[in-house]
Amino acid sequence: MKAWMGTGHDANRTNGRKMKTEKTTTRREFLGGVAAFGALGLTGCANLPGAGATGSPGRLPERGEVLIRNAYVMTMDPSVGDLPDADVHIRNGAIVAVGRNIQASGAQVIEGRGMIVLPGFIETHWHMWNTLLRSMSGDKREHGYFPTAAALGKIYLPEDMYQGTRLSAVEALNGGITFVHDWCHNIRGPEFADANLRALKDAGIRGRFSYGAPQAHPAVETIDLADFERKQSDWRSYSNEGLLSLGLAWRGAFDDPKTMVPNDAARREFAAARKLGLPISVHVSNARVRAGQIAVLAKEKFLGEDVQCIHAIWVTPEEIRALASAGTPVSFSPYTELRIGFGFPQTGEFLAGGVTVGLSVDTTALSGNADMFAIMKVIQNIENSRSENEFKLPARRVLELATIEGARSMGVEDRVGSLKAGKRADLIMVNTHEVNLGVFSEPAHMLVEAAQPSNVDTVMVDGRILKRRGKLTAIDVEQTVSEASSALAAVRKRGGWW
Ligand SMILES: [Zn+2]
Repeated sequence: MKAWMGTGHDANRTNGRKMKTEKTTTRREFLGGVAAFGALGLTGCANLPGAGATGSPGRLPERGEVLIRNAYVMTMDPSVGDLPDADVHIRNGAIVAVGRNIQASGAQVIEGRGMIVLPGFIETHWHMWNTLLRSMSGDKREHGYFPTAAALGKIYLPEDMYQGTRLSAVEALNGGITFVHDWCHNIRGPEFADANLRALKDAGIRGRFSYGAPQAHPAVETIDLADFERKQSDWRSYSNEGLLSLGLAWRGAFDDPKTMVPNDAARREFAAARKLGLPISVHVSNARVRAGQIAVLAKEKFLGEDVQCIHAIWVTPEEIRALASAGTPVSFSPYTELRIGFGFPQTGEFLAGGVTVGLSVDTTALSGNADMFAIMKVIQNIENSRSENEFKLPARRVLELATIEGARSMGVEDRVGSLKAGKRADLIMVNTHEVNLGVFSEPAHMLVEAAQPSNVDTVMVDGRILKRRGKLTAIDVEQTVSEASSALAAVRKRGGWW
């Protein structure tokens, strides 16, 4: 385990006790149970996550013992590859075995015929509070993404943070994303961070929460370092049994593109995170006028395995070499980079240079949705088009970026990102019987080119089944959307934003 991952990861020590109450269940009983649970989901909202909007704790499904049988299993472990007609055995939130003809007499059986089973997608940079502002980047300069996020972010209340983040997390899970990097750049007080963390916890998703400055914060002032440190020392109460970890959403010193050198406030923030052993993430070189920022970070010794660089569109070959030699991963969010006009991610150059690449949503205020299938597809298409080469970025390589490479970029590849005995059970099942996926041809290509969030049949995070037969099991979608809509209406009213 990397030194900077030394916080909050105690998932392996939890929930051993639950096994004792597990009973042998036939497939018929199990499916009946799921149906009953689904019905409860529609009517019994009082105890559901989401009812927790004002602070009451949510309820997530138990981690049980499950055997997924007869599926097409893409392990994303290069030493194993794909296993047609294979099983995955899960117990207490961990993968026990992956292979053929696994015997697990006490396990609940999920029939996987016609399904592709693969690791849940790893999302690597997302301003989740922004989802309340979905598709609100307008058509005039004053209504563009940055002024809109700044104007409305300033009048957010903690409850709005909760609603935006929960809506994001629910959308993520529904589309097969099991890990998110919540890049929270609107912490206007400790309770704003608490609200985001509560939303992530209520949804049951895995992720990193990166603590950032509020919108329109003066560049010369640091984040609330005392609260940041307090979060770290109290992390056990936020981590949701190790599913969530903490990092720094670092502004660098790039508010003024001419001032490439991090100022004192930025240096203090960086030093605080390093001292706490927490990972750091920063937006760099997202526009032509911001070219050269990576060279500055390299020169000032602000790179490392614990530093993630986001966008990195306008880069030189020397800068790519600097990232590779420092072990600094990058995150590309093609839909926002294209939509706002940052430019084209240079995926091929980074991969050839040995840089770890992850894929990201960034903000649905620009991208509209959080569809990782579409993100994979556009990353491939941009790269093949740029290089005028049909074969430049193979589908399987793209799938690696969305799973195991994404996990590596977030420092969690020892726990998730591939299906392997001993790893935590974060996986999805994609139904290939849907009309846009029939017929079964080449699975990696099908996932990158043809699949959509609606094809995600089952989602498991840390052994908990959060989506089954195309329906979220523990979250009331209607309630989530309706509460978020009310929150947005109030934000717009307060901001006079019509
Ligand atoms: Zn961003």
